[in-house]
Amino acid sequence: MNVNKKVFFSLCVVIIIILTVFFNNKSTQVKSDYETFELLNNNYDYGNLITDNSEINSEYVTFITDGMDENDFLNIFSKTSKYIKSSGTYKHINYDFEKHLTYSKLERVYLSLNDSDIVNLEIIGNSFDGRNIYSLEIGKGNDVTMFEGNIHAAEIGPALYLTKFAVDLVNNYEIKDPEILDFLNNHKIVIVPSANPDGYDYTIFGRNMIRNKNSYAYLNDNEIDPYYYKANVNGVDLNRNFPSQLGGLFFSDNELSSFTVLDKSTKLYEYFPGNSLGSESETKALMYWIYKYYKDTKSFISLHSAGQVIYDEQQYLSDTFNDEGRKCAEILEKYTGYEIVGVDFDDGFGTDGNSTDFIEELAHGYVYSTKTGRLSTLNYAEQVNEMTQKMCVLTVETLENYTQDLDIIRQEWYDKQLEKALIDIVKR
Ligand SMILES: [Zn+2]
Repeated sequence: MNVNKKVFFSLCVVIIIILTVFFNNKSTQVKSDYETFELLNNNYDYGNLITDNSEINSEYVTFITDGMDENDFLNIFSKTSKYIKSSGTYKHINYDFEKHLTYSKLERVYLSLNDSDIVNLEIIGNSFDGRNIYSLEIGKGNDVTMFEGNIHAAEIGPALYLTKFAVDLVNNYEIKDPEILDFLNNHKIVIVPSANPDGYDYTIFGRNMIRNKNSYAYLNDNEIDPYYYKANVNGVDLNRNFPSQLGGLFFSDNELSSFTVLDKSTKLYEYFPGNSLGSESETKALMYWIYKYYKDTKSFISLHSAGQVIYDEQQYLSDTFNDEGRKCAEILEKYTGYEIVGVDFDDGFGTDGNSTDFIEELAHGYVYSTKTGRLSTLNYAEQVNEMTQKMCVLTVETLENYTQDLDIIRQEWYDKQLEKALIDIVKR
């Protein structure tokens, strides 16, 4: 080996050592940005998660979607989520619906909010196309109010409303506004601004935002009107994909509801619940989130658009529970003038399998049945317990029509005093 070769060889060794150290540090660094969380290891008693009983008479109803796979269901409880460590000191965030932000820009807002000590930011799961689904935990109180937005792709207003809500609360907390300090020291608000982040990007910015070129929305883009698209980019209506008791649609009198479809769907009034319930990664993320908080939850509000109405009851659930929901709906009605619609239509027929059905039934003591792959209970009619006495569950349709117009979205926020309404729901 001559001198030049020796020098070259030594240089290579040094470079390899430097690179090894650098990348090792880098991977340690990424790990230390997170604190992981699993339901089963955190003082939750999930001993009675499953039953082999079911009160569903299969001669009376026919499910056209399979229930949730048992292993998929159990995996929710050993699923690892991540709390993100804050990266700096909080800086005031300006956000007033100025322009359409891509989901990755919204993510930056959530990461910036996480710099406040009143916020805990958690990644509760990922979407079909690999986007992070975030939960913002804001406040130090024991009672919890859960807000879910944008489970339907084109319903982007709610994602923006919940982002605006979080930004305003944290900005005011950071300037030590006495009312907000008191409010956030006594309540805990948990927000999933966008439950369908792929749908969010797709509906606003088009199919090139989707990385998975085999996804349903990408492949069928020419037949889809993104302006009205409801499903995730895998073609499944997430808000019909929850394993609630009557989830998965059914025939009654051998007639299929006009809403229900048996395959992946593109249209506004077509609900495809998936080939089996709980099949979608977004649904699993939300189930994890609901199991984590429901026992301490006073209100669960699912924000949609459009129609300016509030759905507040379920025929088959307890009067105690329905009364509580009505009181809570009236708070929203007072500010917004949105019309309260008790559930008039029959259960089933494509309207079940919502996130709201799921948490309502959990509150009533339903557990997963291995027979149906859905929630079930034998004490089905009247359940009065600590949870059903305090919990309000609402589906709120904001805005008059489907829209991406930021002026209209902003105007609704201020005209309908949505922020005050949400704060009063938390305070109730
Ligand atoms: Zn909706």
